[in-house]
Amino acid sequence: MHWGMLMDLRKCVGCYACTIACQNEHNLPFTVRWNKIMKMGPVGNYPNLTSYSVPVPCMHCQDAPCANGCPTGASMVRKDGVVLVDRDKCVGCKFCLVLCPYGVRHYNEEKGIVEKCTFCMERLEEGRVTRCVETCQLKARYCGDLDDPDSEIVQLMRKHNAKPLYEELGTKPSVYYIMP
Ligand code: SF4
Ligand code: SF4
Repeated sequence: MHWGMLMDLRKCVGCYACTIACQNEHNLPFTVRWNKIMKMGPVGNYPNLTSYSVPVPCMHCQDAPCANGCPTGASMVRKDGVVLVDRDKCVGCKFCLVLCPYGVRHYNEEKGIVEKCTFCMERLEEGRVTRCVETCQLKARYCGDLDDPDSEIVQLMRKHNAKPLYEELGTKPSVYYIMP
């Protein structure tokens, strides 16, 4: 089992519904976004210009710089591929904020620990999909088992030649993108 996510950038309109649903699910303040939406563009040649939206949660890297560099072992890659922060071990040193090339970690001033997208593990363990996937009305996001060749997510990834963001960094992300 290797949990992964797929974003279909042909469908995403950048409405922020997933961002707000994630904040609601995890009781985050409005300014903290575990699921960012990056606006890319303009791309193309004038006058045929376009732009697109790119949802960016934690990439749940399998060779995760945050986990590799965490001095207390609080950041870890689980056997099912999910990268989590153990709040009992995190000392809030913020080293991982510097190490993460995707800039998806947040320091929680109140708790004195670092937090980020958890892949909604509680929901996945109950057999439900992540809150962001459930919320997206345009079916621009999928989650599933990257180890299962028959899963919907793997079939779509193959069909559309999905790729991670900045694959060249070598962190082996678990989040893939279908390009527009
Ligand atoms: Fe760690 Fe950043 Fe990779 Fe997430 S995206 S696993 S926080 S290095
Ligand atoms: Fe937020 Fe859960 Fe989606 Fe991660 S998987 S971006 S925690 S809703």
